[in-house]
Amino acid sequence: MSPIAAIVTEVAEEMREVGSRGAVADYIPPLAQVPLDKFGLAVVMADGAVHVAGDADEPFSIQSISKVFALTLALGAVGDQLWERVGREPSGSAFNSIVQLETEHGIPRNPFINAGAIVVTDVLLGRLEPREAIGQLLRFVRELAGDDTIAIDEVVAAAESATGFRNRALANYMRAFGNVRGEVERVLGTYFHFCALTMSCRQLALAGRYLMNGGRSDGHRVISEKRARRINALMMSCGHYDNSGDFAYRIGLPGKSGVGGGILAVAPGIASMAVWSPGLNESGNSQLGQMALERLVQRTGWSVFEPRAG
Ligand code: GLN
Repeated sequence: MSPIAAIVTEVAEEMREVGSRGAVADYIPPLAQVPLDKFGLAVVMADGAVHVAGDADEPFSIQSISKVFALTLALGAVGDQLWERVGREPSGSAFNSIVQLETEHGIPRNPFINAGAIVVTDVLLGRLEPREAIGQLLRFVRELAGDDTIAIDEVVAAAESATGFRNRALANYMRAFGNVRGEVERVLGTYFHFCALTMSCRQLALAGRYLMNGGRSDGHRVISEKRARRINALMMSCGHYDNSGDFAYRIGLPGKSGVGGGILAVAPGIASMAVWSPGLNESGNSQLGQMALERLVQRTGWSVFEPRAG
């Protein structure tokens, strides 16, 4: 067994012993029903080797991790013009917070909080119908992961819509500032479908290869090197909401979480990894997922702050 494979197995085994796992998101039944003891870990190396442990092949709701893929598509569609409508600073607030929008004139702090992702979705809908935008995102992640079985869970999408009062408030508020331009329900219907993407740790880690490989996935160029670097920078500074500083401190990697309990993290040039444990901490990030990544990074030295030769 390779040293990395052994570490992946070891970390997953250690996670079985951890008592305090946080709490499963309970705002919609499909998430509330997920057993707290699920745990999956997948690591895809730059050379293509894949190491998995636990429930790494079980699909789960990736939720806000989809914001990374939506951002990538929006940058592809409108380039740096996106930054006229979304900021690039950590918010220091909860993922669904509305408070900064008033003083900041409807411009969300970054594309990884809900308000930012709603604007990103609106930008995609500037050129596409909702059905096309949803299809585009699905095709994109399928292609990135090399796996056509990836799907959107319509039950989750419907539940998001039925309970999405805060997201409706955010979208309407930004509409009042002119920063959401399309019809609010069309934008939200699309956003909810993005949140409802269902993927396994293995599929997610494979999909993240373009961020590990300077924009290339499986030999194909997906985005420029510069853009990959910049998306990683945003994931590092904003990928975990008001917990982003702590994630950088403990793990030291670009990462993006979702309330389904998944985290996608990238060690540029080294590995793309995904972890899943549905119990969340107070900021809505996977409690065990962070702990597992922390241990993985400590044992591998993959933090981007690790001194490297050269
Ligand atoms: N569907 C969730 C929402 O819009 C996604 C939030 C998250 O994963 N942090 O509130």
